[in-house]
Amino acid sequence: MENLIKGLHQFQEQYFSANRELFEQMAKGQNPDVLFITCSDSRVDPNLITQSKLGQLFVIRNAGNLVPPYGSANGGEGAAIEYAIQALNVKHIIVCGHSGCGAMKGLLNRQKLIDQMPLVYEWLAHAESTRRVLVENYANCRGEQLIDIATAENVLCQIENLRTYPLVRSRLHSHSIALHAWIFEIDEGEIYAYDAKTHKFIPADEPQPLLELPEYQMPEPCPAPKRFEPHQEAHLPGAGRLSATQADRIFRGTSR
Ligand code: ZN
Repeated sequence: MENLIKGLHQFQEQYFSANRELFEQMAKGQNPDVLFITCSDSRVDPNLITQSKLGQLFVIRNAGNLVPPYGSANGGEGAAIEYAIQALNVKHIIVCGHSGCGAMKGLLNRQKLIDQMPLVYEWLAHAESTRRVLVENYANCRGEQLIDIATAENVLCQIENLRTYPLVRSRLHSHSIALHAWIFEIDEGEIYAYDAKTHKFIPADEPQPLLELPEYQMPEPCPAPKRFEPHQEAHLPGAGRLSATQADRIFRGTSR
């Protein structure tokens, strides 16, 4: 804790003083382009690994970089996603997993968590798709390799969860948002990004819009609604079932 207090003083005396203008500008409001969803792990620092400045990333962090599917939880994740898209108009959403993730290890032995960490057990239900993919498709994998695969499959499953949000779906439809699945390899200091064309994680050297909706032919614009041309028969009671003369007679009733 002493180190943190020392850090606070250092921040105020050095970094803040040197960047006072930036902070004054930031105090007026934020305008980030990117929603960055990553793990709470102390070794993952979104601003550090992307070398981004104050105000550039809107960040959600939780155990396992999970995105509860729309409507499945009343937690802060959904609210933060909604706010980032609707109020801040972010253009990119990055889900970033990392090597050696404790949440992925927990997911692989989820049943063991029930007694000791019941809340973590519950939370990991949002990664059930990941667990199922692993159980049914990677039965021969073990140890570190399985954790790496869990991390990779999990960011893709969480991207799918993101797509359940009406706002995300709508912005994908208008091509005004792009989704990215990243993995941070801690020991290499390397970021790998999922390439939807080759279905592989490749070094994220070039920013590319990945995981957008596939291009497809939009249907022809809907024809303008037919203008309703009222004619006498349509206004008369019984029109359709009666002849025009009959309907007219009944409509006029006895006043005739
Ligand atoms: Zn983690």
